[in-house]
Amino acid sequence: MTVVGVLGAGQLGRMLALAGYPLGLRFAFFDENAEAPAGQLGDLTVAGWDDHAALDAFADAVDLVTYEFENIPVAAAERLAKHVPVFPPPKALDVAQDRLKEKTLFRRLDIGTAPFVTVDTRDDLERAVAAIGVPSVLKTRTQGYDGKGQRVLRRGDDLDPAFAAIGGRPLILEGFVPFERELSIIAARSRTGETAYWPLVENVHRDGILRLSIAPAAAGNGALADQAAAIAAKTLEALDYVGVLAIELFQHEGRLLANEMAPRVHNSGHWTIEGAKTSQFENHLRAVLGFPLGATDAIGVSAMVNLIGETPDPAGLLGIEGAHLHLYGKPARPGRKLGHVTLVEPGRAALESALARVATLVDEPTLSR
Ligand code: AMP
Repeated sequence: MTVVGVLGAGQLGRMLALAGYPLGLRFAFFDENAEAPAGQLGDLTVAGWDDHAALDAFADAVDLVTYEFENIPVAAAERLAKHVPVFPPPKALDVAQDRLKEKTLFRRLDIGTAPFVTVDTRDDLERAVAAIGVPSVLKTRTQGYDGKGQRVLRRGDDLDPAFAAIGGRPLILEGFVPFERELSIIAARSRTGETAYWPLVENVHRDGILRLSIAPAAAGNGALADQAAAIAAKTLEALDYVGVLAIELFQHEGRLLANEMAPRVHNSGHWTIEGAKTSQFENHLRAVLGFPLGATDAIGVSAMVNLIGETPDPAGLLGIEGAHLHLYGKPARPGRKLGHVTLVEPGRAALESALARVATLVDEPTLSR
């Protein structure tokens, strides 16, 4: 029986395992946290990323390694890659961990981004603001996620507090993009080189955290979908990528700008579990195992609502016809992703009314947009 080793044991790892069991796969997870929720679904090695003995033992126990979390030290992935196949390639992990490398790759591939400049010192910040102007967004180059490690600069007075809050680490200053909306493209590339793309997803964030995804995005076909697929195709090719890749995009005046990429299954692809012919989780496994990829067509129109900070009464959510509830088995904490609900309806009008029912139970003002 094939054992898939997964670095990280959060909810993404958990959903990978849930997709892999029907394919007869077994799962082993590696995480620093003994309470990580995927541990409920497979063997869990609890050790530090620099624990060579634990990494080597993990490599011996699995047939291949993938990851569900991108802040794993690249050295750990490279050490494992000496013993077992590791997909996506550690190079993708290296690029995705650093906003400067990521945006530099996009630029090299002729993929549009917000203007950006690297900032290491307070003087650099002054020069960067002179070059890019305000509003702009100061971000840590590494370790940022869910809106953490970033500050919007709107006027000169904002520079000192922003630098005091996140300075002292390598930073990047980006021009603020007054986007019409945020989209993401989820793509898969198999070990055989086969590629597949799900329909474009529209995403609504609040406080930097994804709240709601709608797929397929309204008016997301044709030229816009082609633009997104071209962005993903170039990135997959450049990284000799294997697995699922997500790229977050801003739509601005009809053009797509790449904001960031995730070398893994992605929150904005959770709708694919019930809303697409093949889920991102199954296709990630197919890709890393070298199997043919499954069809990525949408089944109707889907909405995915994140459950953040607290979990509403499950009975209430399950009382909504057609609601698919996913709880991740994590203790509640403010700002934490604890689960999600997916609705799949034949059309947008039905989706709107189903969403309105969810909005009575989930604190989610963006639902009423
Ligand atoms: P990130 O961590 O880069 O994904 O940023 C989190 C969220 O902040 C994004 O989803 C956007 O809503 C917002 N954001 C980030 N960068 C920019 C930017 N350059 N211009 C406008 N909004 C941004």
